[in-house]
Amino acid sequence: MSALTVRQEIANLDAYVPGLSIAEIQQKYHLSQVIKMASNENPLGMSPMAQEAVKRHASEAFRYPQGGNPRLTLALATRHKVKASRVIVGNGSDELIDLLIRVLAEPGRHNIVCFDPCFSIYPIQSRICGVKAHRIPLKENFSFDFDALLRRVDDNTRLVFLTTPDNPSGFCPPREDVEKLARALAAKAPHCRLVVDEAYMDFADNEEALSLLASGLLPDNTAITRTFSKSFGLAGLRLGYAVLPGNLAGYLWRARLPFSVNILAEEAALAVLNDVTFYEATQQTVRDGRKTLADGLTALKCTVWPSAANFLMFHMPEEGPDARECFEALLQKGIIIRPLKSYGLPDHLRVSVGNAQENQLFLSAMGDIITRHEPSARSGKA
Ligand SMILES: *Cc1c(COP(=O)(O)O)cnc(C)c1O
Repeated sequence: MSALTVRQEIANLDAYVPGLSIAEIQQKYHLSQVIKMASNENPLGMSPMAQEAVKRHASEAFRYPQGGNPRLTLALATRHKVKASRVIVGNGSDELIDLLIRVLAEPGRHNIVCFDPCFSIYPIQSRICGVKAHRIPLKENFSFDFDALLRRVDDNTRLVFLTTPDNPSGFCPPREDVEKLARALAAKAPHCRLVVDEAYMDFADNEEALSLLASGLLPDNTAITRTFSKSFGLAGLRLGYAVLPGNLAGYLWRARLPFSVNILAEEAALAVLNDVTFYEATQQTVRDGRKTLADGLTALKCTVWPSAANFLMFHMPEEGPDARECFEALLQKGIIIRPLKSYGLPDHLRVSVGNAQENQLFLSAMGDIITRHEPSARSGKA
């Protein structure tokens, strides 16, 4: 018998924990109707124009995509007023995060710096790449300690990761603070790049004031990533992009698997970029729904963190069921939200903004769960 050995980084890996799927909850609880508010997907579903494009181009899927995805790259460069040579597209921004680490950091020697908690893909992919991740705790209110982040950067740090607005809290730092960090980083560590993950930036009320990409003033040590998974509603087609400094995009293209962005994803993306009606309806739905959910949860005495994204992080009321009990009770009612244990926050929950009907179903289920709770059932509480 042959012995199977894998690299120890893989053998010991805590892999990414995705949100539960609708199908698995339908099956487990014998429910016909299940709603998912766990993965920050678009509350309006998929753009009709993008659906049309996928149908129209379905018969071309036997072909390989054009190398380098030039039409999509150009469309994105035009949208963000940057040179096309600075843009790369990937199989989700996840692929680009992984590529940045692989292209810039040497296994066993270099490191990355990110916050704790943060989007777990940064530390997970760095571990897979054999690159150490140094984690800096967020402040108690979930804002960013940029001084501590900068202090942790050393001569071997090749990447610093930030998420703005942040996942899972929804916190968004002022743009000036991010610019200041970029400058301080350039002075302290010339070989290090700052990655600003703007996956949720277009849900912020003042994107123009908060976004580096929207400001057009991109520091030359800074990479911005964005995604088609949230406001553009294409999470299942897997498509993300980055605007990179200097000739970094060229190196990422060199290392990227040749056809990681498929023909149907590319056509859907080109169509949805033109679907202004869908985009604006999404923005309005998220803004209205975010307020409805925040007000509703607050009225139920939950603690809700201010969010600039399409989700809310919250804490159960002192007398209510705990986060785990609430999550399970919601599942039984056919509502999937996100427990934050895998982010190291076992007492916190995250709910994605849904459409108006989903938001109402969620709030009324929460009302039931909280008011029906028998306080004496909770151990250690008076
Ligand atoms: C959802 C999300 C993304 C998007 O990932 P894709 O691979 O593009 O689907 C990126 N960063 C953060 C922080 C996210 O929450």
